Amino acid sequence: MPTSQPSVADPRAWAAVTLGVLVLALLVVAVLLVPWGRPPAPRADQLAALRDLPAAEVARGRAFHAALRPGGYGATLIGLLLALLLGLTPLGGRLVGLVARPFGDHWIAQAVLGGIAVVLLADLVALPFAAWRRTVLVRYGLTTQGWGGWTVDLVKSYAVTAVIGAVALLGFYTVTRLAPRWWWAFGAAGAAALVVLLSFVLPVLVEPVFNRFTPMGPGPLRTELMNLAARDGVPVRDVLVADASRRTTAVNAYVSGLGPTRRIVVYDTLLRRAEPAEVTSVVAHELGHAKDRDVFTGTLLGALGAAAAVVALFLLGSWTGLLRAAGVDSIAQPRAFPLLLALATVAALVAAPVQALVSRRVEARADGHALALTGDPDTFEAMQRRLSSVNLADPDPPRWEYLYSASHPSTVERIAAARAYARISGK
Ligand SMILES: [Zn+2]
Repeated sequence: MPTSQPSVADPRAWAAVTLGVLVLALLVVAVLLVPWGRPPAPRADQLAALRDLPAAEVARGRAFHAALRPGGYGATLIGLLLALLLGLTPLGGRLVGLVARPFGDHWIAQAVLGGIAVVLLADLVALPFAAWRRTVLVRYGLTTQGWGGWTVDLVKSYAVTAVIGAVALLGFYTVTRLAPRWWWAFGAAGAAALVVLLSFVLPVLVEPVFNRFTPMGPGPLRTELMNLAARDGVPVRDVLVADASRRTTAVNAYVSGLGPTRRIVVYDTLLRRAEPAEVTSVVAHELGHAKDRDVFTGTLLGALGAAAAVVALFLLGSWTGLLRAAGVDSIAQPRAFPLLLALATVAALVAAPVQALVSRRVEARADGHALALTGDPDTFEAMQRRLSSVNLADPDPPRWEYLYSASHPSTVERIAAARAYARISGK
């Protein structure tokens, strides 16, 4: 009797099919839920908007970003090199082994302590760049935080990384041990679930680690914002003020939480530095995100992407050249974690411009929502000017940088969009 296995039990074939389905689902969701029909305003209108901005402010924004650039790209480059060095040579596996040795090389020590050690080493290498970035922020008066507060923030963010990382690592390597052939299926489901969980948990559990949120006191602005939300048909539980001024002079606002936990969060700096009508304009933009379920869309795309990444890693794990380079027998063992991290780092760099494009389209839709809801393009433009000036934006950043990493339309695009709205609506 021939003993060839029926294909139904071949995990690799199933993984390939699953990956195909996930990528297809990702494309369908992206096509259906991302507002592609919102291209930026014509370049001539953008340049007209740029000419109307004070030249000194434009120059200052550009100088600020030029000063940030070497450190930012330096950190990315060094991070990539380190990830490749640890992942594509036996060095990373050795580091994992070294950390676990005092614990008798127990797999849990390898998985959790070894994994966290690799992540923290990457953070450590990025540290000088982060410190250097802070000196630029100080030079441009954008930070209100001393080195003490900065260090406390850093330690807190390492702690958050370590806690979330420990849970993910322990979960992942438990599954690879229990289901050596099918771990990718459980891993994909787990990664997707983690993305969903984090989008619920981060605003409630992690944001308060870094900022204090207090309900906005009763007054005309709060009434105006709650009325705006009600008029928009977006149920909002509360308007909270974040004490952003402990860290920065930059202004911002956002909507976080899903369903009953949804709240509008306004930076205290925004309340101090912008006119109430401008705050309303910013909040109208944020309500647009809530109304169009952008958090849901982002979470869905993130969950599908994370699941696809796990399956892709499993399939890449049969590439013996890769395993030999890393000095491991299987991609599913804790000593191969640095290899996983290297592949994830490369994937993140490749995905960045796609994510930025999706984000810009979603942000442009929220801008459109703000214009329609307030019917006040003049205030919208005033707010964009203020955001740009206070946050030291480059109102018209270099094209390549914009395409690679801009999460929002540029200031000149947003102003041009407001003017186009004013022309069409006659306002
Ligand atoms: Zn937005």
